[in-house]
Amino acid sequence: NYMGVNEIREKYLSFFEGKGHLRLPSFSLIPKNDKSLLLINAGMAPLKPYFTGQEVPPNRRITTCQKCIRTGDIERVGKTARHATFFEMLGNFSFGDYFKEEVIPWAWEFVTEVLKLPKERLWITIYQDDDEAFEIWNKKVGIPAERIVRMGKEDNFWEIGVGPCGPCSEIYFDRGEDKGCGKPTCGVGCDCDRFVEFWNLVFTQFDKDEEGNYHRLKNPNIDTGMGLERIATIMQGVDSIFEIDTMKNILNKVCEVANYKYGSDDKKDVSVRIITDHIRSVVFMVSDGVLPSNEGRGYVLRRLLRRAARHGKLLGIEGAFLWEISDVVIQNSKDAYPELKEKKDYIKKVLKVEEERFDETIDQGMNILEAYIDELKKENKNILDGEKAFKLYDTYGFPIELTLEILQESGMDIDLEGFNREMEAQKERARAAREETNYMGTDIDVYMTLPADINTVFEGYNNTISRGKV
Ligand code: ATP
Ligand code: MG
Ligand code: MG
Ligand code: MG
Repeated sequence: NYMGVNEIREKYLSFFEGKGHLRLPSFSLIPKNDKSLLLINAGMAPLKPYFTGQEVPPNRRITTCQKCIRTGDIERVGKTARHATFFEMLGNFSFGDYFKEEVIPWAWEFVTEVLKLPKERLWITIYQDDDEAFEIWNKKVGIPAERIVRMGKEDNFWEIGVGPCGPCSEIYFDRGEDKGCGKPTCGVGCDCDRFVEFWNLVFTQFDKDEEGNYHRLKNPNIDTGMGLERIATIMQGVDSIFEIDTMKNILNKVCEVANYKYGSDDKKDVSVRIITDHIRSVVFMVSDGVLPSNEGRGYVLRRLLRRAARHGKLLGIEGAFLWEISDVVIQNSKDAYPELKEKKDYIKKVLKVEEERFDETIDQGMNILEAYIDELKKENKNILDGEKAFKLYDTYGFPIELTLEILQESGMDIDLEGFNREMEAQKERARAAREETNYMGTDIDVYMTLPADINTVFEGYNNTISRGKV
């Protein structure tokens, strides 16, 4: 029962319109008044003020298809069949309106009657203590008990600190034994690609207080999230999210530019998939007004773009190429996201400038890094000096994560403390320079543009990235 990405999106939104939901366009990837989040990472994220009661929603039932970025999944991209840094999340939300009794049967109706997925291949997970959800799935919907799996807090209970939280229930699709790891323990929740989680229904029914007590909310909420790329992978019967109609167009273009035949080399295939994913993140971020920089969102953008550029080098691509591929991304998604079309020239220009800038130093930087690696090997060491990593960052524009990734490919690591010390020292120098010039009455803007003006301290992937529901 093949369905294209754009068709599935429309089917979902109109299905929930039919259930009294107001359809809203995707919010920007840039969170509004939310310091806890660098980039929107779930459909519910931009709706938080409605969930907390801070703001009154335009309707108590809302449905969206939200652009999301999860850099927390970056290391899995290209390696699993189901993770991307950019993806679209379909969602339906209830602000103190309907609850479990309604949302569970609706989800089932959509999946089995609209998408017509075979029932016998669907699995359900619930939170271990959520007998209510069990009853609804089992009695009301008719799922056999053995296909309802109870899971623990880390998987099926959603909370961030204090405030509204609650159990969730996920829907999985069994893609068949040949897609699995084959281990005897393989089943729902296994990390392989056989049982794919595609829809998460969150039942926000508690308010957690400072002491850790859970109080039942008078008006509980519903927040659901279905990965569009994942459901499309299932509907199109393809191997991975990279082969669904829209993504495949990008993947093909990458292969064309690299003059490479997809499927002929495992390592190169990973590079192709990484580029295919990262180019989407980059294009959507720029279209929402993010510009490459050395801090915050701009740094995430720079990091993704430069990582993609490096994988381009691994494929033997010469010079800037991502800006050219961005056309395909825009073409794929311009109807759902008109901002892409409006800003097409701008997006391409930003990409080209940033790519060309990095292109001037990447080869030299790579040579230097390779020399460092050889040196370490000769000396039987495996930790690169913070100073050297900093030089690559500062002079050759290598995001620290990129240097780390390349080192890790040789089983090596970075002295991050040393790196952060260098970064601090440079910031200090910049500050001093600014003060001095200020005192002398000269233009401080010159110094503001020095690469020294940096706020990024690397704390590992998961800290630089979005917090919350990841
Ligand atoms: P997973 O366990 O597979 O990493 P998740 O539990 O972190 O997924 P949720 O936070 O529940 O995901 O998000 C809701 C839905 O969004 C998921 O069921 C999935 O369909 C989709 N999704 C989540 N992360 C990604 C990703 N990195 N790439 C593509 N789709 C994703
Ligand atoms: Mg999960
Ligand atoms: Mg989930
Ligand atoms: Mg996840």
